[in-house]
Amino acid sequence: MSEASKTIIGGDTASDQANLSVRERIERLRREIEQHTYNYYVLDAPVISDAAFDSLMRELQELERAHPEFQDPSSPTQRVGGAVDTSQFSAVVHESRMYSLDNAMSFEELDAWMDRVESALGYLPELVCELKIDGSSLALTFQDGRLVRAATRGDGTTGEDVTVNVRTVHDVPLRLTEEGLTKVLAPSLELRGEIYMPKLSFKTLNEQNHAQGKSAFANPRNAAAGSLRQKDPKVTKSRDLRTFMYAIADESAIEAAGQWELLEWLKSAGFHVNPDVCRCTKRSEVRAFCESCLKRRADLPYDIDGVVVKVDSFALQGELGFTARAPRWAIAYKFPPEEKTTLLRDITVQVGRTGACTPVAELEPVLVAGSVVARATLHNEDEVARKDVRVGDTVIVRKAGDVIPEILGHIPSLRPEGSQAWFMPHECPSCGSPLVREEGEAVYRCVSLDCPAQAHERLVHWASRDALDIEGLGDEIIQRLLERGIVHDVADFYLLEEADLALLPMGRINKEGEPVVLGAKNASKIAQQLALSKTKDFSRVLFGLGIRHVGKTTAQVLCEAYPSYEALNAATLEELSGVERIGQVMAQSIRSFLDNPDNIRVIARLRDLGFEMTETLPDAPARPQTLAGLTFVLTGTLVESGMSRSQAADALKEFGAKVTGSVSKKTSYVVCGMDAGSKHEKALALGVPVLNEAQFLALIRRGSLEEALASAEGGLFGERER
Ligand code: AMP
Repeated sequence: MSEASKTIIGGDTASDQANLSVRERIERLRREIEQHTYNYYVLDAPVISDAAFDSLMRELQELERAHPEFQDPSSPTQRVGGAVDTSQFSAVVHESRMYSLDNAMSFEELDAWMDRVESALGYLPELVCELKIDGSSLALTFQDGRLVRAATRGDGTTGEDVTVNVRTVHDVPLRLTEEGLTKVLAPSLELRGEIYMPKLSFKTLNEQNHAQGKSAFANPRNAAAGSLRQKDPKVTKSRDLRTFMYAIADESAIEAAGQWELLEWLKSAGFHVNPDVCRCTKRSEVRAFCESCLKRRADLPYDIDGVVVKVDSFALQGELGFTARAPRWAIAYKFPPEEKTTLLRDITVQVGRTGACTPVAELEPVLVAGSVVARATLHNEDEVARKDVRVGDTVIVRKAGDVIPEILGHIPSLRPEGSQAWFMPHECPSCGSPLVREEGEAVYRCVSLDCPAQAHERLVHWASRDALDIEGLGDEIIQRLLERGIVHDVADFYLLEEADLALLPMGRINKEGEPVVLGAKNASKIAQQLALSKTKDFSRVLFGLGIRHVGKTTAQVLCEAYPSYEALNAATLEELSGVERIGQVMAQSIRSFLDNPDNIRVIARLRDLGFEMTETLPDAPARPQTLAGLTFVLTGTLVESGMSRSQAADALKEFGAKVTGSVSKKTSYVVCGMDAGSKHEKALALGVPVLNEAQFLALIRRGSLEEALASAEGGLFGERER
């Protein structure tokens, strides 16, 4: 063989051959590292030292660096989150819907599910029981054996693309094992499972966060979900995330007859599969497994919130099918809620953004159902009284899985001497203004326009489209203005100087590293819009002020009756509740709002700043105002004309009549349709004249009372048997 022919192997040159061995070495290193990663993260049984592992990894990195032509995104070296911008997670449509599971909250409900399966199939088939891992659902797509996409469940149909982050999770194989590939029947596979954070890692993470002054995660589930959705994959990589895989979107894509075989296959393909599984044929076995899991729950290194029972056979799963929400072939047996006792250190009051004041139990932190509980809502004053809890009590805290913790009551024998019953304070803890409790409501509210706790929402509402419609003055800008203490209440918007507004920092840095400001163009637009808003109708102002129960339509109705601030403010509670469509509760809410000293001050400032606060009513009345000074009340159904109450009221108002909602001595006439009830009786009792529908129709023809009263079907007072 000549020298020349020796260098040519299979048509390649000598350097090609050298490359071939480099490629082989790289490939062998990759497989070797994958196996060690699996041993370490999945089996929890490393067979080589960390130092030896690092050495293999370093050799692979060096070879890949020297031979960029062999780069491969599935290489174990690529787990290091690169500088990929994941600031926005793009949407991913799942191959098939990621369903939720129906719950069985007791063994009876679990039995009822098995009854349903049995009656649908004619027998109870083989079932697979798995732990219900309390993490976040994850979907992994493999194309030709390589991980190409990872997504969250999202709404079940569309999730978020978290591929870059999931690539950093060590127990997720970046490619399937050779063994796994032998049973794959389709080029693309979507595999599903749960991503979670072990309890211990959660604790460590929270301790670290605490030491750095950062806020803590409430439980391992939140920590896992939060770590998965990090903008910087390096952060995700630094968190101890693990997975358990247990499902496939399309079972026909692999060689497996059911769930049990699927789990076997997942294991062989390199995935982390939870070993705590049980194949059962009897109800008693299912129950025994659930009971044993419940007992072992606290000792497991990760959180579980139940057991998932699945019909094993894929064929039978297909027969049973799905409801709109969940598969019929599976059920989640949820563990009963956990209860713990702890000390109630204090009861504080939290002011919500709408002014609702909620008593909150400040507890000695206690671990309940897998998460630390330090606070729990007590809902309202009545609830505190009903539960009879006092500061210093030993209280019972209950939490069921992801349910909000709840205080059940206290242990009487442990109540300290001299403890006092708790009452809601009279003043808002945020602004000191008097709290209001509306009739029929359990909640106390702060109705002050000046309350910092409510400021943001109030300000955003003021600028919103249906209110003052101040284009450009959005959520974020308002937040910045509030943070800088530039704006406290809606009147402050009108003191803003355009030049100052232009320099408002937006809390971001641009590419050049300079702080981003609002800018002259935006500032000028907002200034114009603010000026324009002063001329808008009173009904918009009224809606914009955010009075409880006063929506857009109610504001318009009010302004029809009282077309200016003066007119509205002069109305008594009784008068307000007499306005058509304004009930007692609304009237009360409006009156308390208008009487609040802080609100009086803000409204006065708005007026000083140029607000007109008048309503432009529809065109001047074309009808003669023959009914001016008369007050009508409508009751019953107008069957002959088919007119609605408000159409009938409008027809009367065209002639200058006033229409109110309740009958009093001041009522001039009550119009009674079919099935009129108490208002009719009240009219009779008070001697208020009544008109029947025919008379009413005669009345609204020309606005003439004479014509109405003389109309054929009515007597003098329109009385008629109904
Ligand atoms: P839920 O969110 O309460 O409706 O429960 C359904 C969720 O349980 C699924 O979306 C999965 O994320 C989760 N889950 C945890 N472990 C399992 C398991 N072994 N089998 C199926 N789903 C599970």
